[in-house]
Order: sequence, then structure tokens, then C-alpha cells
Amino acid sequence: MLSHGLDAARLQFAAISGGEVDMSHSVEGHLSSQVDGRSGKSDAAAKSNERKACNERGEKVRAILKARLGEDIYSSWFNALEFESFDGRLVVATVPVKFLKSWIQSHYADDLLECCAAEFEGAERIEIVVRQPGMSKPASQASQAVGQSGASAAELPSSEQRRPLSRPAGPAFLTGRTHASGFEGSPLDPRYTFDTFVVGPANRMAHAAATQVAETVLADDRAFNPLYLHSNVGLGKTHLQHAIAWEVKRQSKAQVLYLTAERFRYQFVEAIKSQDALAFKDKFRAIDILLIDDLEFMRGEKTEQEFEHIVNSLLDGGKQVVVASARPPAQLDGLNDRMRSRLQRGLVTEISSLDPALRLKILEKRAQEKRATDPSFEIPNAVVELLADKLTESGRELEGAINRLYLTWQLMHAPVTLDIAETIIRDLVQGIEPRRIKIEDILRIVSRHYAVSKQDILSQRRHRSVVRPRQIGMYLAKHLTSRSLPEIGRRFGDRDHTTVLHAIRKIDKEVGENPRLKEEIEELKRQLHR
Ligand code: ADP
Ligand code: MG
Repeated sequence: MLSHGLDAARLQFAAISGGEVDMSHSVEGHLSSQVDGRSGKSDAAAKSNERKACNERGEKVRAILKARLGEDIYSSWFNALEFESFDGRLVVATVPVKFLKSWIQSHYADDLLECCAAEFEGAERIEIVVRQPGMSKPASQASQAVGQSGASAAELPSSEQRRPLSRPAGPAFLTGRTHASGFEGSPLDPRYTFDTFVVGPANRMAHAAATQVAETVLADDRAFNPLYLHSNVGLGKTHLQHAIAWEVKRQSKAQVLYLTAERFRYQFVEAIKSQDALAFKDKFRAIDILLIDDLEFMRGEKTEQEFEHIVNSLLDGGKQVVVASARPPAQLDGLNDRMRSRLQRGLVTEISSLDPALRLKILEKRAQEKRATDPSFEIPNAVVELLADKLTESGRELEGAINRLYLTWQLMHAPVTLDIAETIIRDLVQGIEPRRIKIEDILRIVSRHYAVSKQDILSQRRHRSVVRPRQIGMYLAKHLTSRSLPEIGRRFGDRDHTTVLHAIRKIDKEVGENPRLKEEIEELKRQLHR
């Protein structure tokens, strides 16, 4: 594995497990001398200078890493990496969660060391330390040599090892919403806690990050901020956000606010209507943690600006922000570049699709929950396996399946047969998969509705009678298909993506102001969904 023709002995890759002593690994002598060496400069100013100098070189290492590994891999694993110190031979870098440390060690050890060697002259080894919130330097340190034995990538996140995070929501928790500074948040589902969240390869990083956020909300030295979760629908983003909110409420008196982007927008628009926009902004001051869900629905120019302003001031004030979205930051059309890059500065992590083993565990967990209220509830293993095999798209299907099986059980009080399970699967898969709308359909419906030809829509003509349907078409394409702006531009007569963006914004704004247009668009959507 030590490729690239470098001397294997020089490539020893060590890591300190900050705060979480891993007893299975011996403490190595070289490490304690390293720690002693650093304690000579223990005064805070010198330390912070050292860190600064280190991070300047680190910036260059990051650039080299990014070029070498590509943007995707870099932002998944290295965004949150920081450089702490260099003593001529040893580079110490830090990451916010233990899982990230294990992952980098087991997958990118060689790359990281080689990239470091380019900037930190003489670097022989790298230690990765888990940043401990509220601590200026890692405390108890045990090291493990990686490269020979290797840390397992499947190593559990720190919080899983330390203690179970949340208990099932007791009566005191069933308030169901977060309130902060007179704001009413979006409803919280009492079932969505860390306890009911099943961890697997698809979501391990997101889960580790979420638990860490919940634990460190009130710490001065936050692990990472903001936390940005993204994935396709139904893979547990909302579940994790609610789990953070419940956990923070349980542990502390911190002011938590959970809002969907739609609710944020609604409250903001209401505030403007009652000429209360300033008060709206002000209300966010007292919040310790803001969780925004479904960020891709943050629409409308003023709303976006306001959102950006609020997020910036929360982050500047050291408050925690957690965002969930169907898209990664780079693909958020609405927000400006500065905001997109700010949202990338903490930890960006994607939940990938659930593998069969994880689906099985989620189903079992859900069945167990039903059994907690009705111990007689039974599902044959073969049925659970069939469901795990067939329901591949999202956790929502899995939840739906167990709910239906339970209903069937209540009606019949006999074990659910495979036949019944098949029917349930068919219903679910059909019921859940929305009809996929194509740009071709949109062109057809729009041209029919406004009595303009498709050629005209695609042409360069700028007459209002053509421009309007064209813009509405682009707007519908953005909202009803997963096509990107440049793709939509191409399909609407080879137009630039900025033209598309302009059209979408214009129609978006008008829809907010003009109920007749809103109704017209609803009608077009109905026709498209038929
Ligand atoms: P998203 O917000 O990503 O669209 P949700 O958080 O709403 O997804 O999840 C959809 C459903 O799937 C919920 O019922 C949720 O509890 C369940 N789910 C998703 N992932 C998991 C998981 N890892 N463990 C348990 N339930 C899960
Ligand atoms: Mg969601």
C-alpha cells in the first residue's frame, strides 16, 4: 500500500486519539517526546502563532491535496482538516471527529503525507488528532501506528463508544417544537432521535458529525461550523436534525431553533407584511443553534438575502448552524457564491443510499418500536428480507412498509404472508415514485396553454407573448425536474444559464405577489402531473 516509491519506514503514519484512549494500542515513546517538545512553547501566544504559521503552509497542502484527489473527495474528507504544529519531522493535523481521522488514515495516509512533504520540508510522519471541543490542545493521548496494522475504517464514531446519546423522548419532550426568542420552530417528530437512528456506512460520517454537534453546542471551541448534510430524499437528514434538536434540548438550556426553509420564508414574509423585518432579524440573536431543513426551498431574493445575513451573523457570533439540503452547496442556485463557500467551510457530508444490510436493520428497528407498544406484533424474517431487498430508494418506504404491515397485522392478527408483503411493496413503490416529468412535457403543456408554438418558445423572439411562456416553462423545468440551469438553458433554445436564473427569479417573485399567476402555475403543474 505504500506506493509511490517512497521509503516505507519514513512513511510511518501515526495518530493520536484525543481524549479517547484506545487501550488496544500502545503509547509510543516518540509521541511523548513530541508532546514534551511542544510543552516548552506552551504559552498561548506562541502556540497560536505556531498554529497560524502552520495553517499557512497547510493551505498550500490543501490546494495540492485538492488537485490530487479531486474536489469531491477533498470536500468530503479534508474540508475540516487543520494543521496544528510541525517540529521539523512531525506534522500534527486535527480533525473534528474520530471517524474522519480513521477514514483519512486508512484511505489517504500516503496522499496526505506526500502532499505534506512538499510544504513541510523534512516531514516524516503525520499525526492526526481529534479536536476536543473546549480544549486548546488534545489531552490524554494514545497513538496508533497506521500503515502496518491500520485503523479500521469501520471504527465507530467517538460518541457511539462513549455513551448512548439520547433516550426515547419522555413526556417532557413531547412539546414537538423548538421555541426561541418568541419564534415557533417547525414541528419536531418525537420518534426522530439518535436512539432510533441506525448507523451504517451510508450515514456514519453524518451521524458522527451530528452527535458531535449536539454535544458541543455550548462549547467555546466548536468542532465544526456549519454542518451541512445533503442527500437524496428519505435518507435521514431530517431525522438527524431532529435528533440534534432533541438532544440539545435534553442536555442543556441552549436556545434551539429548527426551521424548514419554507417556514423561514413564511415567517420572514409575514414579518415584512407587518413591517417587522428588523424585529425578525433581532430574534435570531439569542439563538445558540439554528437548524435549517430543506435549504433547496429557500427561494425568493429577499428571503435569500435575509437568510444569508442571519447565517453570517450567527456564524460570526460563534453560534452553531446546521443545514440539510437535497443538494450540495455548490449546486444551490439561489444563494450567492460567498454564501455557498461559507456553507462549505465547516463540514459538508453526504448521506449515500442505504445498502441492504442497513435497510434490514432499519426495518428491524421500526418493527421493534411497534413491538414496544404491541408485543404480539410479528413479522416473519422472510418478509423483512423481501422488503429490505425490494425497497431500495429511501427510509420513507421502509417506514411506510412497517406501518402497513402493522395495520394489516391489527386487522388480521395472523402473520403477514409473503403475498401480502408483495402487494404492500407494489403499492409503496408505485405510490412513492412520482411520475417523472420531462422538459419535453413542459414545452408541450406550456405551448398548448399559452397558444404559442414550441418553435417560438425555442426561438430568439423577444415578444412578450413568447417571452412569458418561455420563462414560465423554465421556471417549471427548474421546479419539476432535476435538470441543472445550464441543461435547462440548452433545452430552451440554447440559452445561457444566467438567462434561466433570471427567468426563475422573475417568475418566483411574481408568484409571491400575484395570486392569479400562482393559480395559473398550479394549473400547469396539475396538467403535467396527470
Ligand atoms: P430526508 O430528510 O433525508 O428526506 P428523513 O429524515 O425524513 O429523510 O427520513 C425518512 C424516513 O426514513 C424517516 O422515517 C426516518 O426515520 C427514516 N430513516 C432514514 N434513515 C434512517 C436511519 N439511518 N435509521 C432509522 N431511520 C431512518
Ligand atoms: Mg427531510
